[in-house]
Amino acid sequence: MSTKSGAASEELTFFGDVCQFFDHAAQFTNHPAGLLDQIKSCNSVYRFRFPIRKGDGLEVIDAWRVEHSHHKSPTKGGIRYSEMVNEDEVMALAALMTYKCAIVNVPFGGAKGGIKINPKNYSLAELENITRRYTVELVKKNFIGPGIDVPAPDYGSGEREMSWIADTYQTMNPGQLDALGCVTGKPIALHGIAGRREATGRGVAIAVRECVSVADDMKVLGLTPGLAGKRVIVQGLGNVGYHSAKFLAEFGAIIVGLCEFEGAIYNEKGLDIDEVFNHRKASGSILGFKGAQKEFKKSLEGLEQPCDILVPAALENQITEENVVRIHAKIIAEGANGPTTPGAEEMFVKQGGIIIPDMYCNAGGVTVSYFEWLKNLSHVAFGRMDKRYEETANENIVNMVEASTGVKLSPEQRSVIVKGATELELVNSGLEDTMIRSYHEIRDVKMANPKIKTLRIAAFVNAIDKIAVSYSNMGVWP
Ligand code: NAD
Repeated sequence: MSTKSGAASEELTFFGDVCQFFDHAAQFTNHPAGLLDQIKSCNSVYRFRFPIRKGDGLEVIDAWRVEHSHHKSPTKGGIRYSEMVNEDEVMALAALMTYKCAIVNVPFGGAKGGIKINPKNYSLAELENITRRYTVELVKKNFIGPGIDVPAPDYGSGEREMSWIADTYQTMNPGQLDALGCVTGKPIALHGIAGRREATGRGVAIAVRECVSVADDMKVLGLTPGLAGKRVIVQGLGNVGYHSAKFLAEFGAIIVGLCEFEGAIYNEKGLDIDEVFNHRKASGSILGFKGAQKEFKKSLEGLEQPCDILVPAALENQITEENVVRIHAKIIAEGANGPTTPGAEEMFVKQGGIIIPDMYCNAGGVTVSYFEWLKNLSHVAFGRMDKRYEETANENIVNMVEASTGVKLSPEQRSVIVKGATELELVNSGLEDTMIRSYHEIRDVKMANPKIKTLRIAAFVNAIDKIAVSYSNMGVWP
């Protein structure tokens, strides 16, 4: 098994890390060893290679799809486009998907895909070719389908890639009624769902807001409850990092630091995320931003600046035993998958910090992917059937209240009360409810057993218990 990518000094594999956390958590459950083994193992690992035409020649691409658990169908998980992808990483990410879905009560097993390329080195036509060929390989081996395995975006992929996948799958399955449910994270025009693009980052921001709202926990950290004025550093200005920063700022936090792979910037008074984003888009680098007080050529130095909350939202293995001692944050909210090594987590918790674990913290993406999948299976947008009905019913209530009280509402007040919910409002409401309820489920598991020291172990216990129940319900385990 290969070792992890990144700056780690520890030599565990990423999948090894996930299994280590699992084994630790399993002690606090009461399931037979065989069942725990079944939950922990990766059920199916499909490794394949295919050629593509590049320039005058051919290039062979390495790719994977791992289905970690079939306790629920379909399996679900993103596809990562990265030069660093390897089998160990895809297995780890697939396993995290299983636990993540269980934590937020999304009825899927976990899966993940990987294509070992740096997308920046390929033309649009080559990327399309790679994505379509990858999909054909999945179809050939029955590793994709609305009831089988449903990919989504991950690091290096987005709506564009998802629409190529949907189109390829649909072409190869003519007449299949639910074909568009074969992948989520699609553009709205191709039966995607409002709010999916920003869902993971919005979920991260809600998770942080919920965490800092618990007065007792904040007292232990020496912080005041609430997000207002909390200083935040975000690593990664991609889909998850950008939206996490944007919503955290909207909820009242101050984004004091931003880190990308080329460097980091800091301003104790706050950075405007859109200005930084536009500056990077125009100049190709986060560095040189006029609103920064300090900049760092070494990206990781950006994580070590003064702040209350750190949101790693780039890649795994960023906070290690080597640099954790220099982290000022009291809370690490894992937007990325696996950004903190087990050794670093132990030290951080001993330093008195809280980690909001990846498998809960970034689950907003899969939650809204679930809503998209439901929309694709039902072939109707959320709100389409009931929006006008709801508005008419609300009109009738307001009219009755006005008539019986003599109080006349202004047109603005009336429209706020009467308005029926749009798809986006329903999606955001479902996401917020899921993130809030799941946070307290995990925290309650931790509070119920003083031997459980971290929210991550509590989250694993919560997930293992739910998956074990699924196996029992299937009659697989007595
Ligand atoms: P993305 O490709 O949109 O963005 C990643 C960003 O990180 C890029 O801007 C990249 O330049 C930056 N980056 C790369 N290496 C870096 C480094 N060493 N230091 C600082 N920045 C660096 O990817 P994404 O979809 O935002 O995914 C980020 C993480 O979130 C991954 O771990 C992914 O598995 C996880 N995640 C994503 C989703 C989703 O819906 N997209 C859902 C759950 C979890």
